[in-house]
Amino acid sequence: MAQVSNKETVYNFIGGEWTVSSATDSLSIENPATRETLGRVPLSSAADVDAAVAAASRAFPAWRETPAVERARILFRLKELLEENAQEISRSLTLEHGKNLLETRGELQRGIENVEHACGIPTLMMGESLEDIAAGIDCVTYRQPLGVFAAITPYNFPVMIPMWFWPYAVAAGNTFILKPSEQDPLTHQMIVDLSTEAGLPPGVLNVVHGAQETVTALLDHPGIVGISFVGSSQVARLAYAKAAAAGKRVQALGGAKNHMVVMPDADFNITNEALIGSLFGSAGQRCLAGSAVVGVGEAYDKMRERFLDSANSLTIGYGLDEGTEMGPVISKPHKERVLGYIDAGESEGAKLILDGRDATVDSYPEGHWVGPTVFEDVNPSMKLGSEEIFGPVAGLSRVKNVDEAVDLIQQVEYGNATSIFTSSGKAAREFRYKAGISMIGVNVGVAAPMAFFPFGGARGSFYGDLKAQGSDAISFYTDRRVVIERW
Ligand code: NAD
Repeated sequence: MAQVSNKETVYNFIGGEWTVSSATDSLSIENPATRETLGRVPLSSAADVDAAVAAASRAFPAWRETPAVERARILFRLKELLEENAQEISRSLTLEHGKNLLETRGELQRGIENVEHACGIPTLMMGESLEDIAAGIDCVTYRQPLGVFAAITPYNFPVMIPMWFWPYAVAAGNTFILKPSEQDPLTHQMIVDLSTEAGLPPGVLNVVHGAQETVTALLDHPGIVGISFVGSSQVARLAYAKAAAAGKRVQALGGAKNHMVVMPDADFNITNEALIGSLFGSAGQRCLAGSAVVGVGEAYDKMRERFLDSANSLTIGYGLDEGTEMGPVISKPHKERVLGYIDAGESEGAKLILDGRDATVDSYPEGHWVGPTVFEDVNPSMKLGSEEIFGPVAGLSRVKNVDEAVDLIQQVEYGNATSIFTSSGKAAREFRYKAGISMIGVNVGVAAPMAFFPFGGARGSFYGDLKAQGSDAISFYTDRRVVIERW
């Protein structure tokens, strides 16, 4: 199995072989807590993408003809192998991403659930039929795979997010190319090796590493029929437009600014725990992380002190160390970006009540630390109140009622997730009805992606129509072919 080790060069995986990229440039991959160099990732060229497309295209006819039950059996074996190797995978993920072991184990589990769901492909891929659609004429639909698909994925869930896509695509009989994030591409290599061990034939799953140039080559490539993208909205928009212009199916999941709405009748213990997990888990680097906390009426004063105390007492540290509740952010540029938002919040007039800018961890002085940070009096006219920060920064605000909370949410361009905390079914229903957001939590801080349900945002958080996971994944990766028969 591929191991995460010092100074490792990352290889592309093409046609079942780990292959040296033709790239002339590479980037360093480092542990964001210790700053140890873990390897170098090549910035693959269009020629590398051509090679991957050629391998995936060669593998497609035989894989498509492999019965769905046999394709599913390979995924059953993969699920077992992922579980057997869970500890090692989670550890590797903590090394290159920074989140703690509980979080990386959770990430892997969510990934495994997609493999489990894709194991149902013989049922999921069934078509429909109607006898005598006209006298003596029958009509049948068959779901057929389309060819070579590709996914481009972000750094924040480098194991789970690729598994939102490729297990469904290959279960359905397509072949696949993954372009993982260049910031933490190591751990997914283990999963590729386990897929080979499970019996996935050469060329069915390919990996090409790189950044912008590699992505452009994938988006434009005539041999690729569809693109699944996850990342910031800025790049999601670009990927959507470019791939659609090249005639491909596209689903592009973008960034987020998620509001947590707290009602006066909420259970404040449960709510506080959920808020802390949502805003500061994974150092705020989740597209489902809460970012704005909206207190309705007297809820604001009831939650403020409790939230502030809990945020202030979180243990920051190295994800492999016992007791670490919050790890570092991914890189120096990202830390600077987050600090920039904190500076902007101050100059825009928000009130800084907990400042994480000077956070340090004694044993790892060079780590990319940002402590929990809390502002109050935040509103959507501020950068702090409207833009995605992707760090452990909370913006508190108060409103009078649910309608004002919904109005505030709708002033922001994103529509990924939101949550309400209440003991009133009426308030929850009203909120769900009006929020206009795709993922809605009720007394839950993270309305997490569940493999059996579709996942993706609204408005500026999603470009496309069929979402990731659930039945949408099967629709995205197949075409329904209609046969009308008279004998
Ligand atoms: P990013 O947009 O910088 O990168 C995502 C992918 O796009 C990477 O593979 C990267 O190599 C590629 N890329 C980056 N810039 C590019 C460019 N100019 N042209 C072509 N390709 C380019 O995102 P990130 O920093 O890796 O991840 C964080 C972002 O992802 C956040 O905005 C977060 O909200 C979002 N995200 C969204 C979801 C979701 O489900 N909606 C899930 C996870 C993360």
